Amino acid sequence: SPSASLSNLQSELAQSTHAGADTGTSTMAAPPAERSFDVIVVGAGIIGSCAAHAVASRGASVLLLERFDLLHQRGSSHGESRTTRPTYTRPQYPPMVRLAHRLWHEAERDAGYTVLTPTPHLDLGPRDAPAFVAAMANGGATELAPAGDASRPAWAEAFRVPEGWAAATSGPAGVIKATKAMAMFQTLAAKMGAVVRDRTEVVDVARQEGNTIVVKTSTGEEFHGGKCIITVGAWASKLVKSITGADLPVQPVHTLVCYWRVKPGHEEELTTEAGFPTFATYGEPGFYGTPSMEYPGLIKVCRNGGPPCDPDGRDWATGTGAGGIAEIVARWIDEFMPGVVDTTGGPVLRQPCMCCMTPDEDFVIDFLGGEEFGKDVVVGAGFSGHGFKMGPAVGKILAELALDGESGTAAEAGLELEHYLIGRFEGNPMGKATSH
Ligand SMILES: Cc1cc2nc3c(=O)[nH]c(=O)nc-3n(C[C@H](O)[C@H](O)[C@H](O)COP(=O)(O)OP(=O)(O)OC[C@H]3O[C@@H](n4cnc5c(N)ncnc54)[C@H](O)[C@@H]3O)c2cc1C
Repeated sequence: SPSASLSNLQSELAQSTHAGADTGTSTMAAPPAERSFDVIVVGAGIIGSCAAHAVASRGASVLLLERFDLLHQRGSSHGESRTTRPTYTRPQYPPMVRLAHRLWHEAERDAGYTVLTPTPHLDLGPRDAPAFVAAMANGGATELAPAGDASRPAWAEAFRVPEGWAAATSGPAGVIKATKAMAMFQTLAAKMGAVVRDRTEVVDVARQEGNTIVVKTSTGEEFHGGKCIITVGAWASKLVKSITGADLPVQPVHTLVCYWRVKPGHEEELTTEAGFPTFATYGEPGFYGTPSMEYPGLIKVCRNGGPPCDPDGRDWATGTGAGGIAEIVARWIDEFMPGVVDTTGGPVLRQPCMCCMTPDEDFVIDFLGGEEFGKDVVVGAGFSGHGFKMGPAVGKILAELALDGESGTAAEAGLELEHYLIGRFEGNPMGKATSH
């Protein structure tokens, strides 16, 4: 049964997390024979967890190292939900979304439970805005039928679409249970033999004589890998700087997840069961939300982005005061969803999170390079607020870059990895940004 297989997988993870420990803590050193791996993955957010799973599923030995507790709330991947949708202004992303959906479903099948709930996705944007028009075309979106048309979904009445704006639905789309999804990939990786170690901070990655990559921790431990994959989210710039001295332009920003009370009488209407969509608006800033699902009677509506932050010195309350992120979201709700969501008194629940922005908002998926590392160290970073849905696809690509020096999966899916190269910032700090 699904619950039986879940508990089996969880006990596999528990055993693997404690591999090599003889005192029952997850931070004990492994015996020397267990310090050598084909691949070492640094950082167990969604991207690193998917990469470790992809390496393990190739039959290679893999160590996944995480600085904090597994599934902690100090990075970018925690929480109840993330959206997935195919509408992207840049055409390289919809094929990656489709590949990721295939891999999400394969992982769900292997785990025996689901993390992705399919829903429609609704985009709202100025009808003639080039970014909106391109995203709808790239995502194969269909404009909502006008009021009174029999094919118009009942939930459409929840949204007030401003004059000159259009509303369009697309798929594949849905809500991904974020922390559960990360746990699923960690568990599947462990089941295939990955060693998962938390409370282990990596402070250096270096090449030792011969072909070994040495990964050093803050407590002086050393692990040896044939290859290394660095997926440290908001810490990417800091770690890369300390390893190579190079500047990787990944800027963490503080953002807030906000849950709002659904107005009495509309609670059922706004649920996934009633077919309510995930939704997003185009503009500066953009807003997005997910159907009422994780907290009955509440709905998640948030603003994209937020102020720059230092991941090691965060003010957890940023954005909660007057004029802050929550108040800006309240104003959007009052304009776009006034009949169904209550903003009186502000959000019922708030959770801080970080997005890791590149100047052009394209990902970084590349070899660290240089004479020292060549193709032996791979970096996945700068997912710019839209990386979660792509986790399984990016993880598989990172694993293939590490193991094979190239990604057969990316080639097969028609994904052009030159969009994500670090070199795009050389002599051009903005990368491919067209305006900022
Ligand atoms: C509020 C919010 C909403 C979002 N909504 C969506 C959405 O709807 N759809 C979507 O696709 N994406 C969304 N995103 C973006 C998505 O969540 C991120 O792109 C993704 O989670 C990034 O994952 P990551 O693995 O790169 O980073 P992280 O999850 O931060 O993982 C990096 C890990 O590395 C660890 N680490 C750091 N330094 C070290 C070290 N020295 N040694 C060992 N470990 C280290 C960290 O502790 C951390 O666990 C959203 C993000 C936020 C914050």
